[in-house]
Amino acid sequence: MKERIKELAGQLEKEFIELSDEIYKNPELGYEEYNSCRLHEEILEKYGFSITKKYLGVDTAFRAEYQSEKKGPTIAFMSEYDALPGIGHGCGHNILGTTSTGSGIILKHLVDDIGGRVVVFGTPAEETSGAKVLFVEKGAFDDVDVALVAHPNMSYNKSGKSLALVAIQFEYKGKPSHAASSPEKGINALDAVINTFNNINALRQQTLPEARIHGVIKDGGKAANIIPDYCMAQFYVRAQTKGYLNELVEKVKRCAEGAALAAGAELTISNYEYPYDNMVTNQTMSDAFSKHLTELGVKNILEPRQSFGSIDAGNVSHVCPAIHPYFDIVGDINVGAHTVEFAESTVKPYAYENMMITIQALVATAVDVIQNKELLVKINEEFKNAEK
Ligand SMILES: [Zn+2]
Ligand SMILES: [Zn+2]
Repeated sequence: MKERIKELAGQLEKEFIELSDEIYKNPELGYEEYNSCRLHEEILEKYGFSITKKYLGVDTAFRAEYQSEKKGPTIAFMSEYDALPGIGHGCGHNILGTTSTGSGIILKHLVDDIGGRVVVFGTPAEETSGAKVLFVEKGAFDDVDVALVAHPNMSYNKSGKSLALVAIQFEYKGKPSHAASSPEKGINALDAVINTFNNINALRQQTLPEARIHGVIKDGGKAANIIPDYCMAQFYVRAQTKGYLNELVEKVKRCAEGAALAAGAELTISNYEYPYDNMVTNQTMSDAFSKHLTELGVKNILEPRQSFGSIDAGNVSHVCPAIHPYFDIVGDINVGAHTVEFAESTVKPYAYENMMITIQALVATAVDVIQNKELLVKINEEFKNAEK
C-alpha cells in the first residue's frame, strides 16, 4: 500500500504544485476566493469527484465526494485557500489547500480497492469568520467518520490544542447633552465603555492563566463637548475549553451590564464573528499520522505548539474525530507565519517536498482508518470520552 501511495504521489506531484502555485499568484481574501475555489473544484472534478458548488449557500465553498463501490468509513479532508490582506498567502493556505485536496485525490484512487468514501470540503475564510463553523452548524460533518487537515509551519508539530473564542460586541445607548452647560441631562455611553474595560481588568485576576480577553473601542463618541450617546466596543474572549469559555463569557457580559447600569445606559450584546471552539486533537489518529511521517523519513516531529490562537477546525473536532498537525515548509531559515517571507517559502522546492511527504502520511492515516476496524473503534471511543 505504501508503495502504491508513493507511486501516485509521484504521478500527481506536478499537478499539485501547479495548483498551489496558481493560488499563490492570485491571493484572495476570505469569502472572495472565487478563482482559488474554482481551481480546487476543477482538479477534483477531473479525478472523478462529484462537486456541490456554493456549498450551503456560500459562494466560495464546495463539497467534493467520491463514493466507492465498497462500504466503508467516510474520510474528510478540509481545504482552505484564503489569503491575508497585504501579505498574500502569509499563512500558506495555498499549500494547505493543495495538501488536503491532493490527499483526497490520492485516496480516491485507492478506495475502489479498500472501500469507503472520500469527501473534500472547500472551507473559505479561515482567517476571519471561518466557514467550518457554519459547516458544523448545518451538519456537514454528521456523516463523516474522521476529518483531517495539516497546516504549513516553521517545523513539524504534532496536532495539539487551540483556544476557544467568542467575538462579543457591546453597544451602549445613552443620551446626548451639552457637556459643559447641561452635563446633568446626559447619559454618558462612553463611561459605560470605560467601566466595562475596568471591570474586565479586575476580572483578569480571577481567570484561568490561559484565558485571554482583549478588546477595542470602535466608537467612543463624536466630540468632546457632547456627552456621547452611542458607543461600541468589541472583544475577543478566549479559553482552553468551550465549557470554561462559556462561563467566562457570562462574567464578561456582567462586566458590561454592571457598567451600563452604573452609567444608566442601555446595553445591546451581540456576536460580530463566528465563535471558534477549542481544538480537541484525537490522539489515537494523531499518533497514527506521526508514525507515518516518521516512516516517511521525517526526523524531528515536535510536540504540539504551545503558543496558539484559535482555528475553525476546532469546531469540527467537537463533532467528529479530527487532527490539525503542522508541517515544516521553511527548514533552517528564520521566518515567522503571517509574513511575506513565509508566503514566498510556500512555493519553494523544500516546501513542496514536505507537502508531498505530508500528503502521503495523511493518505496512509486515512487508509489505516478504513482498513483497521479496531483503530476506528479506538478513535471513536477516545472521541466520545474526550473533555471538550
Ligand atoms: Zn493564519
Ligand atoms: Zn492558517
